[in-house]
Amino acid sequence: MSEDKPHQNLAVIGHVDHGKSTLVGRLLYETENVPEHVIEQHKEEAEEKGKGGFEFAYVMDNLAEERERGVTIDIAHQEFDTDEYYFTIVDCPGHRDFVKNMITGASQADNAVLVVAADDGVQPQTQEHVFLARTLGIDEMIIAVNKMDLVDYEEGRYEQTKDEVEDLLNQVRFDTDSVKYIPVSAFEGDNVASESENTPWYDGEILLEALNNLPEPSPPTDADLRLPIQDVYTISGIGTVPVGRVETGVLNTGDNVSFQPSDVSGEVKTIEMHHEEVPKAEPGDNVGFNVRGIGKDDIRRGDVCGPADDPPSVAETFQAQVVVMQHPSVITAGYTPVFHAHTAQVACTIESIDKKIDPASGETAEEDPDFIQSGDAAVVTVRPQKPLSIEPSSEIPELGSFAIRDMGQTIAAGKVLSVNER
Ligand code: GDP
Repeated sequence: MSEDKPHQNLAVIGHVDHGKSTLVGRLLYETENVPEHVIEQHKEEAEEKGKGGFEFAYVMDNLAEERERGVTIDIAHQEFDTDEYYFTIVDCPGHRDFVKNMITGASQADNAVLVVAADDGVQPQTQEHVFLARTLGIDEMIIAVNKMDLVDYEEGRYEQTKDEVEDLLNQVRFDTDSVKYIPVSAFEGDNVASESENTPWYDGEILLEALNNLPEPSPPTDADLRLPIQDVYTISGIGTVPVGRVETGVLNTGDNVSFQPSDVSGEVKTIEMHHEEVPKAEPGDNVGFNVRGIGKDDIRRGDVCGPADDPPSVAETFQAQVVVMQHPSVITAGYTPVFHAHTAQVACTIESIDKKIDPASGETAEEDPDFIQSGDAAVVTVRPQKPLSIEPSSEIPELGSFAIRDMGQTIAAGKVLSVNER
């Protein structure tokens, strides 16, 4: 795939079963980014079974299977390109921790496709994902009104779904000026890569065109290296191998790096990506690497690797802006749920609720409120119960957002305003 086009990280969001995976599969298929041998193999299988012409369905089955097996280093980064851009799908739709991942990795997504099935309309997860996209700063959204084949390609059903989405976007004050709505069938391929004859009443852009016409994302920060550690392996012949994705900066062999909060450092000996040794790794690269003198028990998941001469921050406390998505009662000072930030999971106490914010205007609605509840936005001061490496969102957005989980649910999302370092 060409490396000379600008890169776009794309989030595909929407209610379960509205067709996110099918649409991603369709995009990969239409842009010829499903490996030829996979298609050939499926064509043969389909013909053997007397189902010629059904290759797309077989490709989808195969992707679903791969998703289930999807493990460790590569978290199912799916890729395709248009004339203008090289796209990476952020996270894999359908993943059970999708919402949490959307929060902890969402600053990575530049733009989003929201999938809404025309036969089902706006549903709770549609609302939740739109709300998060807004809070976490997704710039542009393309709305794919999917499953048009199930509503006989009726314009009325498309308009009805479009109105529902428009209401939702207005509610969360998403800037709707440049939002595009496209009637599609991910399954049949209508208006994805070619204009459909089934929707003569629609004369707007098809999905690939709309993706191609997205504005170019702001250039990646030339911030310092930040590489959150996902796992630590011991590999015979090499030694200790931490793995993770470079979020910002560059990792080079020979660099002196520091792991925080474990507070150990050493020189990078080798870097491996896709089973090959490479001299350096850049934002978005999933790598395993080896550092001189660091043993398996010295570092752990949740550590962040950065330059030894300017190591990642470790917070004594931090101030953050949070939005409560769903909580059965009220949140008061002293509450200690688990915070998920990059690859770390740490219990943190909400030490004080400093002010409540009007979610629409962003202005202070109340100083020192006694509690906050579902739907509220607030500024809070947080004390991690164990060392946690985290950064102000204004400096390193990739390391500055978090999800708050309790009782098996994502109850709030937030971004870090400032860090009071240990
Ligand atoms: P996700 O949970 O949003 O990723 O949804 P999936 O992509 O797994 O799709 C859920 C179900 O809807 C599957 O059975 C798909 O075959 C079906 N589906 C997805 N897109 C379409 C479509 O455009 N038309 C029809 N008829 N079915 C679709």
